[in-house]
This record gives sequence, C-alpha cells and structure tokens, in this order.
Amino acid sequence: MTAQLACFDERCRARFPIDALIYNCPRCGALLEVVYPPPEQSAAELKTLWRNRRLSNAPLDQSGVWRYREFIPFLDDYRRVVTLREGNTPLVEAPRAAAYGGLDRLAFKHQGFNPTGSFKDNGMTCGVAQALRLGTRRVACVSTGNTSASMAAYASAAGLAPVIFIPYGNIAHGKLVQALEYGARTLQVEANFDQILALVRQLAERLGIYLLNSINPFRIEGQKTIMTEMLDQRDWRVPDWVVLPGGNLGNTSAFGKALREMQSLGLIDRLPRLAVIQAEGAAPFYELLRARDRSRLHAVEHPQTLATAIRIGDPVSWPKALHEVIVSEGVVEKVTEQEIADAKAVIGRCGIGCEPASAATLAGIKKLTAARVMASDADVVAVLTGNVLKDSDYIHRYHTGSLEAPDGTRIMANFGNAPEVVPNDADYIARIIA
Ligand SMILES: *Cc1c(COP(=O)(O)O)cnc(C)c1O
Repeated sequence: MTAQLACFDERCRARFPIDALIYNCPRCGALLEVVYPPPEQSAAELKTLWRNRRLSNAPLDQSGVWRYREFIPFLDDYRRVVTLREGNTPLVEAPRAAAYGGLDRLAFKHQGFNPTGSFKDNGMTCGVAQALRLGTRRVACVSTGNTSASMAAYASAAGLAPVIFIPYGNIAHGKLVQALEYGARTLQVEANFDQILALVRQLAERLGIYLLNSINPFRIEGQKTIMTEMLDQRDWRVPDWVVLPGGNLGNTSAFGKALREMQSLGLIDRLPRLAVIQAEGAAPFYELLRARDRSRLHAVEHPQTLATAIRIGDPVSWPKALHEVIVSEGVVEKVTEQEIADAKAVIGRCGIGCEPASAATLAGIKKLTAARVMASDADVVAVLTGNVLKDSDYIHRYHTGSLEAPDGTRIMANFGNAPEVVPNDADYIARIIA
C-alpha cells in the first residue's frame, strides 16, 4: 500500500489515487487529506535519522520540511523536489512577551524566518512538488498575500508559470511586491475572495492549471513539519499549548493532523492543546465553537481586520480545524485590533518582530491567562506566522500614532516609538539622550 488521498468526512472516507487531479471529494464534496501506511522505522529510529540529517549538505536534508520526509511520504521520487531550504525556523524564548501575556515563560516558533517570510513556504515546497509530479505547467492561487509570495517563488524556482489572483486593493504591499519580483503573472480582480475562488476553479479546469490554494492537501502535509521541527528542537518534550492565528484554518488543520500522527507513531506521548486566535472582525470559527449547532459555519460576509493574513470570512478548512480543536481539547479566542497592535509592538521589543496576524497569538495568550483558561506556569509555544517586514506601513503608522482600525477608530500607540526630528546640535542631542 502507498500514500492515498482520502475524503475527510467520516461518513464517506472514499479513497483515491495519490496522483488524482482532484481538490475535493468527487463523491461528497468534502475536503481531502493524504493518508499513509505506517513507516518502516521505529519512533527512535526516525528521531535519530532526522537529527543526523542536520549534519548533511544534501539539499533535501537541509530543508526543514524534507528532512522529515518519512513523515510526509507522498512522493515516490524526490529528484524533482525544489527546496529553498524552507523551515529551519528558530524557537526563541521571549521573557518580555511572556510577562506581557501573563506567563512565566513563552517560546515563539518563528515561521517568518522562511525564505519568503511566512509559513506558507513549508507547504508550498510540497504543493509545487505535487504539481511537478502531475506534469502541470501552470499553477495558480487566490491569496491575501503570503500564499502568492510563496507560490511565486517556488513555482519560478521549479520552472513553472505562477498565476496569482488577488482581490483588488486588499493586500499588504510587502507581499504583492514579492509576487512581482518572483515573476508571477499577477491579476488583481475586482471581486471579493470567495467570488475570485469560484472564478479560478473554473479557469483551472478550462486551462489545466494546478490549484495551490490552502485546501490543497499537499500544502497541509508540508505545514505538518512545523510541529515536527518544533518538537525535534525541544527534544520531543510536548508543550502544554500550541497557540496560532486562525484565518483559512489550514495551519490549524495541519498542526492537529501532525500532532495526532506523531502520537500514533510513538514520537510523542500526548497532545498539546491548540489555541486558535482570530481577529474580532473576522472570527467565524470563534463563533462556530460557541454555537449549539456545529454542523455549519456561518461565514462573515465582510471580514474586517488590519491583520490581512487572517482577514477571511469563510474559512475553507473549518471542518478539519474543528476536529483538531476538539481532539486536542483546544480553545478558540478572538482579539481586538488594539490588542493585536499592542501585542505586536511587545513582540517587536523582544527584538523578534512579526506581522500583525502573528501577533494575535500573544494578544490571545494575554486573554486566556486572564480568564485562567491557560495557567501562568503552562509550557506554551506560540507560532509567529510571518515576518516583521511584510507590512511595514502598519508598523510606521502604529508608532507614529496614525494607525486606524477598519471601522475608523484610532489605534492608541500604547507601545509607540516615534522617530524624533532634532536640530544638528551636539549639545542638544547629548542632553535629550542622557
Ligand atoms: C496564511 C497566514 C495566516 C493564516 O493561516 P491559515 O492557515 O489560513 O489559518 C496567518 N498568518 C500569516 C502570516 C499567514 O500568512
């Protein structure tokens, strides 16, 4: 038996060949996932194998994704894999952020250290590998930004033609310019995210383009290794909590799947709890967990948040994410624009920095410790999803007191650090610095 695609819906569970060109279950329409037979190696053998690969100069071994290839064995030929050495992201202690969040200790797993500056690279190297296996020439995605940047880079590196669809006027500049620089055909469509998705599905079929949107199950496989690498870095000590922002909920799905699979392979002995944090103006998953009927997610028609990476009203991966939150005894919290902005500045003062969506994690931790859902002495890892330079305009506005929430309210620069204009006068400058 080899890797297969399986319908995620437990009432269907239909299986399909791993190279079937499908995005949803052809029988029932539900999400797909990749399933595998168990690996030949024991847990101890895998841990040793993966650790030893850190000494290797082979490109696959240097990748923080493909180093763990026995955990994502959907390919039978690795020769065409394109790696930009994604993953390999640091796990950094942040005492100041811990204190702000009401914790004794806190470590950030910083996915912003990836080649294009976000965790999308972990998944994209796998998505593009699958596109190459299928023999497609063109790949496409609809994106709020980081997916486009990542897809553009990996597709171009692999010699494929990337086509990017973005809602007109709804993207952080740092991300758009990456897509342009990496050579993607970039189409700004005058429609919202969901309308464009329908359009692209139609075009994909008509033109034979492979879609690399976040429901792509191979991207999810790549993102699983974020958890594997984090546990490897902790010598397989399981934290009490893993905290992450929630947008389309692909990462929540990937982390949950990774943790369950690592437990069943005997790599870890228990599951951490997942804490998914959403922005108040784009929190349909938060509402779903509070609803009596969890069989349907009610989309937010006009999602609003300055954290554009999580500005998603109708998250596609919600059925998987719901499963993972329940299985891990997790929680979903929501935070305001002011809370995100302040948490972000605190992460900045740790010398770490991140993009707005990532800072929702620390804002959420502060709320969860205040509510005593999260104990102050809990062992917590928060995942920073994107690089500080992705949205520099936001940062400048915050520190100069000119940042406005989508509803027009002014965001207070509680941790503001505005530049000062000074005369060319040594005595004066010496006085104000002293
Ligand atoms: C894509 C993205 C998210 C949201 O992740 P989902 O998997 O869609 O929930 C959060 N932060 C950043 C920086 C992202 O690029």
